[in-house]
Amino acid sequence: MSTDPVAYRLPPKEDRARDSTYWHQAAASVPWNVRCFINGRYRASSSREVLEHINPASERSLYVGCCGSPDDVAAAVQVARSRFNDGCWSELPPVKRAEILTRLADLIVRNKESIALLDSLEIGKPIQAALYDAENSAPTLLRSCAGFADKVFGLSAPMSSGALAFNYYEPRGVVGAITPWNFPILNAIYKIGPALAAGNTVVLKPSELSPSSALKLAELALEAGVPDGVFNVVPGLGSTVGAALALHPDVSFLSFTGSTATGRRLMEMSGRSNGKPLLLECGGKSPQVVFEDVESVDAVADAVVQSLVFNQGQVCSAYTRLVVQQKIKDKLLAAIVERASNHKPADPLNDATTFGPLASPAQRDRVKRYVDQGIAAGAVPVLKGRIQESGGCFVSPTVFDRVTPSMSIVQEEIFGPVLCVQTFRTEEEAIDIANGTDFGLVAAIWTRTTGRGRRVAQAIRAGYVTVRSGGVEDSGSGCVLGHEPRKASGFGTEAGLRGLESYSTLKVVHFIGR
Ligand code: ADP
Repeated sequence: MSTDPVAYRLPPKEDRARDSTYWHQAAASVPWNVRCFINGRYRASSSREVLEHINPASERSLYVGCCGSPDDVAAAVQVARSRFNDGCWSELPPVKRAEILTRLADLIVRNKESIALLDSLEIGKPIQAALYDAENSAPTLLRSCAGFADKVFGLSAPMSSGALAFNYYEPRGVVGAITPWNFPILNAIYKIGPALAAGNTVVLKPSELSPSSALKLAELALEAGVPDGVFNVVPGLGSTVGAALALHPDVSFLSFTGSTATGRRLMEMSGRSNGKPLLLECGGKSPQVVFEDVESVDAVADAVVQSLVFNQGQVCSAYTRLVVQQKIKDKLLAAIVERASNHKPADPLNDATTFGPLASPAQRDRVKRYVDQGIAAGAVPVLKGRIQESGGCFVSPTVFDRVTPSMSIVQEEIFGPVLCVQTFRTEEEAIDIANGTDFGLVAAIWTRTTGRGRRVAQAIRAGYVTVRSGGVEDSGSGCVLGHEPRKASGFGTEAGLRGLESYSTLKVVHFIGR
């Protein structure tokens, strides 16, 4: 475990009486500790640059943290390479790695309150949602990765007598990982879970907006038994730290989640350095296609609004386009507007809050820019969300009707609570509209007609398509099955057995002769 004097842990739950001020008091006592975590220890950056972090719920300063540098990346990669080569992790029996990662999952749950508070303060995530990530989503995903560690099997092929060939998976080496800010602890697990389970060592650069829970995770990994230097974290800017990772000649594989523009830059940087393979998850503009035979318009409205406000709309797989059959459009739109207008953003540190501020002033400005562009282009805001200009990045949901396919609000990822409504008459039209952006991440289809659900699911170019007639969305299965984005949404599989294969490389061993 880290011997760092400011290693941060909240008092256990039993030691306190929960009241409405608990989180605010706890927030005031967080010993912010944003530095590099390399070779099992915190260390200052080689650069003197610092980053001031703003609390998006107040727009007041939260802390000033260290900003990593390319030299820090070089130091971290060097350590990660030497730990990879000495086999302290890559040559452990996979079941042993699974045991350690499962212990890490338990430690995340045990530290859920401190992790949740870091995420909530840095990006304004409602505290209960942050707790859900720390107690459920992140450890569940990590346990799933751990469970696959000893199941990445190779094959053997029928050969002539006297010959034998088989293939097997080897870890790739040093994995560079770059993550965004929308689900800080979960995004970190999405990268380190499969990478470590497969036997790699890792250098992670979390988003400059939300580095703290990744650093806490690195502390906990040591406590769980991950050897020093196997999992390193270098906080800092994308343009310096992220670019240094992408350009480093000794990084074997680069895994990224973020914007398409950055993903494409990373491909160039890979090409300019050692041609490292990449895994890119680059967002979406996902359609929710609703046919007139749905069981319940109210159930669809509930689901559409839930997706609109979940994580304040800052979700790459958010259904930001409603593609609805003409006949039921008015009824559905009215139900959506009624529900969406009830969602007013509130203090993220209140246990009752389900909808908080956006993650940063820049994000608030971005959403405002898109809403203005939509109105200027002639879209009709049937619900126009209030955008608070100062003292907190609070933005209420906006719903646009009468959009046209070429509008920026239809084509580009806004990353905020903004919904565009598009209508269709025929199944073919629905498919064309659903496929009518550069993205291809996820899609949902609402119909009671099985054949139609199957046809449309096959025709939509997205990696994960849900066909629904009702019920509650169960995202758990996606973790296990693994899928791959299409088009500008990226490529490569993150989770499940295929996820571990992404972080591995295949070798054939061929014996000839007796
Ligand atoms: P978002 O708009 O969701 O923040 P970005 O693609 O800008 O998406 O950022 C996602 C991650 O990529 C962050 O960790 C960010 O620091 C990093 N990043 C941004 N620009 C670059 C870059 N030029 N090179 C490497 N990493 C970058």
